[in-house]
Amino acid sequence: MNAMNILIIGAGGFIGSHLSEQILKNHQQWKIFAIDIASDKIKHLLADDNFNFFNINILTSMPLVEEILAKSDVVLPLAAIANPSVYVKNPLAVFELDFEANLAIVKLVAKYQKRLIFPSTSEVYGLCSDEKFEEETSYCVTGPVCKQRWIYSASKQLLDRVIYAHGVRDSLSYTLFRPFNFIGSRLDDIFNASYGSSRVITQFLSNIYHGNDINLVDGGGQMRCFIDIDDAVEAILRIIENENGCAEQQIFNIGNPGNLWTIRELAHIMVDMAKKYDKLADSANKITVRNVNSREYYGDSYQDVSRRVPAIKRAQELLQWTPKISLEESLKKIMDFYFS
Ligand code: NAD
Repeated sequence: MNAMNILIIGAGGFIGSHLSEQILKNHQQWKIFAIDIASDKIKHLLADDNFNFFNINILTSMPLVEEILAKSDVVLPLAAIANPSVYVKNPLAVFELDFEANLAIVKLVAKYQKRLIFPSTSEVYGLCSDEKFEEETSYCVTGPVCKQRWIYSASKQLLDRVIYAHGVRDSLSYTLFRPFNFIGSRLDDIFNASYGSSRVITQFLSNIYHGNDINLVDGGGQMRCFIDIDDAVEAILRIIENENGCAEQQIFNIGNPGNLWTIRELAHIMVDMAKKYDKLADSANKITVRNVNSREYYGDSYQDVSRRVPAIKRAQELLQWTPKISLEESLKKIMDFYFS
């Protein structure tokens, strides 16, 4: 594999930290330029000669981003707000970071003719009723404007369309990947997680740890496919490697259709597993799993997606990739990380 400079913006986040770790472990000929405003999750990587960390806020310092981007071969802009409670509480912050700042980066990538690997999201399919969401044929369906949670989906969808259009008009080299509920260690800080502010796995884990009841929004009948971060990172690495151009101008769902569970089942599995950990057993035995109304939990501008399953045939065929890790295995890895 050729030497490459890989710019990861948001490298200090959940996906960025795991991706950086795997690149440093398996691709010594690749250098990472890592941009973030946080470095807690990548402390263990900072001393590596192939890892160059820049503490840059992309909302205020785009000229610095441009300097680094100009020296890179591949750009992964991972900095975004990806947390449903923020979509409804502060939708304009989502728009400014997820759309405006990322649009500026996409334009720079086009200007310097670099290769772009962009995180779209399973949320772009929104309320689509297909049994499995297909990259090329499924509709992207969002709710009314008053349901502000769709600002994240709409921001990502419009960027997908801008990137696609640059591909058609300027032959931009790009790959879009759509994560379907990546889970793993370092997802969120569960020890300081404020109430209602995390993604589902870490929210539940935080509740169990702090001895708070678990709230199932509207009964927890929503179905999601969870994919272990190690499986997901393997797919992103195949995209970066881009063997024989297999990922060129492609869109890939990255998810595990074999790990389809309701949120209610997830909560009960997690509480049962937690009873086996010394640090969690007391609180896991004490808390209850209860139903809450979405209006009470998220406010009026929330709207949920009842079922979300990826079709992954494209990733299987083109990237020669298939996810392997079950939900239970993945949860064990996460609980071991935080509580062993
Ligand atoms: P994350 O929140 O863990 O990481 C984002 C990183 O961006 C953080 O380290 C944060 O400090 C950094 N950041 C935020 N604002 C910044 C700024 N102004 N300047 C510089 N850095 C800034 O998110 P993640 O889970 O790693 O997700 C990465 C990407 O993948 C996002 O675009 C997200 O929308 C997308 N995505 C993730 C999932 C998932 O399951 N995790 C699902 C769908 C889409």
